[in-house]
Amino acid sequence: CADAAAAALTGPGRTSDGTPVKLLANIGGPEDVPAALVSGAEGVGLFRTEFLYLDTDEPPTFDAQVKIYKEVFDAFGEDTRVVVRTLDAGADKPLPFVRLGEEPNPALGVRGLRAFRAFGGRNEAILRTQLLAIREAAGTSAPEVWVMAPMVDEVTEAEWFCELAAACGLDVAGGRVGIMVETPASALTAGAILAGRTGFASIGTNDLTQYTMAADRVLGAVGALQDPWHPAVLQLIGAAGSAGAAAGKPLGVCGEAAADPLLACVLVGLGVRSLSMAPSAIAEVRAALAARSLEDCTAMAARAAGSATAWDARKAALRS
Ligand code: PEP
Ligand code: MG
Repeated sequence: CADAAAAALTGPGRTSDGTPVKLLANIGGPEDVPAALVSGAEGVGLFRTEFLYLDTDEPPTFDAQVKIYKEVFDAFGEDTRVVVRTLDAGADKPLPFVRLGEEPNPALGVRGLRAFRAFGGRNEAILRTQLLAIREAAGTSAPEVWVMAPMVDEVTEAEWFCELAAACGLDVAGGRVGIMVETPASALTAGAILAGRTGFASIGTNDLTQYTMAADRVLGAVGALQDPWHPAVLQLIGAAGSAGAAAGKPLGVCGEAAADPLLACVLVGLGVRSLSMAPSAIAEVRAALAARSLEDCTAMAARAAGSATAWDARKAALRS
């Protein structure tokens, strides 16, 4: 009994009836690794790599990237996972060497994976170098290295990414190349995406909420709409959750929603089996999951997703 209590405080994530839910850390670079290790994270669910590309006139070299990726990978041991997200560029984060052009609506423009496919692939070499560097750094490391692309809408884009990743030596057949579900389109067609070569999906609830609610996530005036508790967002996550289960492929969440202990339980009830968040949130989420069975989570999720508003969804989840 004492052992079970200790495991609920520090061990791997699981519901009270033993369903495993991987608890992973979001990091933005090597400086975030110590906090991730202290939190007891079972690895990294989102390694944002944008920092490598900022404040420079040239893309980072292959060697510079290998060094940084290795530094992160080497900090984690066997039986852990590090999920690297490829560069999430866009007109809202202009980079001199990623040529995108002017856009009136950057959030709806050429961003994420689109930046490397658009304009006849004129930016593709930047992505290729990144994938090759991840492959090189992963070669000798203890954790499983997974790679995912941001802002994927449909299966053709996902297959294009898998093809490029395979050409760069990444383990597509082993299920280590995946995509982020950040738009209603990819949530609703997750079945088709996961029926292809895509090995896993990770839901970016920050962007998924922005695109579901048609509310710019950086615009304070519509900030109240940026609420992942909205039943429309929950229903889309549920659609992706069902697709993940049907395909037998891992489905996680790596947006801010995963850090809300009550919402984390709802996400598990919707079919999510890994949660990646700021390291400081992991202990509370672990405790919330340990206090509920999978059946409890499923019932909470059904009530929340069937509500009319985000406010109602929260209340419905709290009702036991
Ligand atoms: C998200 O959109 O939820 C996400 C994790 O990606 P970012 O916040 O970096 O856009
Ligand atoms: Mg995003």
